Amino acid sequence: MSCIFCKIVAGEIPAKSVHQDDQLVVIEDINPAAPLHLLLIPRKHIANTLDIVPEDDLLIGHLHRVAAKIATDRGFAESGFRLVTNTNGDAGQSVFHIHFHLLAGRSLAWPPG
Ligand code: 5GP
Ligand code: ZN
Repeated sequence: MSCIFCKIVAGEIPAKSVHQDDQLVVIEDINPAAPLHLLLIPRKHIANTLDIVPEDDLLIGHLHRVAAKIATDRGFAESGFRLVTNTNGDAGQSVFHIHFHLLAGRSLAWPPG
């Protein structure tokens, strides 16, 4: 298994985990782009959004609700936050195990660079 996020999910590579459940692991990004920069990583290996199948719909919904709860618990519900996933080259995807970035704590530019 060469996938770095599968190794993090399995506990074989250390990461600063802030939430774990039967479907997800949430960790701090190693190279934070905002005061809050978490990665919500499904335990299931899915390369990116192109590989999501109907059986994953509950997982993807659960991930969004966990992200909203974490953002709320950290005090960012009113100020705002961004939940984003990159798919392939033009979007800058560098790890091909699907993950959603949860960014908050500063004004985030739109459109993104
Ligand atoms: P992508 O570019 O695929 O959308 O996002 C990959 C993210 O994973 C980047 O923000 C990068 O900093 C983060 N990352 C890559 N390797 C590791 C790691 O080993 N540990 C943690 N915590 N984050 C990582
Ligand atoms: Zn993986």
